[in-house]
Amino acid sequence: MAPVKNRKTKRKKEANHSMIVLDNVSKTYATGSPALDNVSLEIRKGEFVFIVGDSGSGKSTLIKLLLRELLPTSGKITVNGQDVAKLKRRQVPYFRRNLGIVFQDFRLLKDRNVYENVAFAQRIVLTPTKLIRKNVPAVLATVGLAGKYKAKPRQLSGGEQQRVAVARALINEPPILLADEPTGNLDPKNSWEIMKLLEKINEEKGTTILVVTHNREIVNAMQKRVITMKKGVIVSDEEKGGYIDED
Ligand code: ADP
Ligand code: MG
Repeated sequence: MAPVKNRKTKRKKEANHSMIVLDNVSKTYATGSPALDNVSLEIRKGEFVFIVGDSGSGKSTLIKLLLRELLPTSGKITVNGQDVAKLKRRQVPYFRRNLGIVFQDFRLLKDRNVYENVAFAQRIVLTPTKLIRKNVPAVLATVGLAGKYKAKPRQLSGGEQQRVAVARALINEPPILLADEPTGNLDPKNSWEIMKLLEKINEEKGTTILVVTHNREIVNAMQKRVITMKKGVIVSDEEKGGYIDED
């Protein structure tokens, strides 16, 4: 495994600082053995990282720790310069503005149209309406949904619904985007389109992106950094990596 500081990078030096750092992080739920077991990891600004591993290996636990939905049992987690354990409860909503999040099951508001689903994320952070009217069409164009503003989620394909979820995750311009199995409910064509969209956002906006996935073909083709987890431990961390076959 190459040490992080030796990795080749075209990025500018000042843009290359750590966005996510885990220092000997363990998480044990009240029931059972550690879901994460002494994990250390650094992700720099502008990286695109896949997290792969068997079901139960701790991937979603890692995402929940980054979101500060959970606190580690031990160890330190720093996200965007912030020690998450030191956040006071009232600071958590502000902290989460740094994190766009996309889930396997889209989690759209079913009774609202596409525009409202995305605009909602701006209303809760009190963005002026005038700006919302400018920002929502722009982000919908980015995800390839210009012209679908008025559709309700049930009128959209799974791929389109996931694009709405990506737009919603991006509208407040978070420096970090986390996606937990974003293509888990999509067919191969839509899976590719969503991953290519995430890659485009990473390249064009410099958003730091972490994608948990089981999609072996896409991981092998995209040649990104791949972190492989097994039973709560990082068993490999490769630049331009691939999916490691289980034995
Ligand atoms: P993955 O996302 O890789 O499938 P998870 O992070 O969801 O893995 O789970 C890691 C381990 O932690 C598993 O053994 C799982 O059963 C356990 N686990 C996850 N969530 C909870 C919970 N809320 N309470 C108890 N155990 C949990
Ligand atoms: Mg999971």
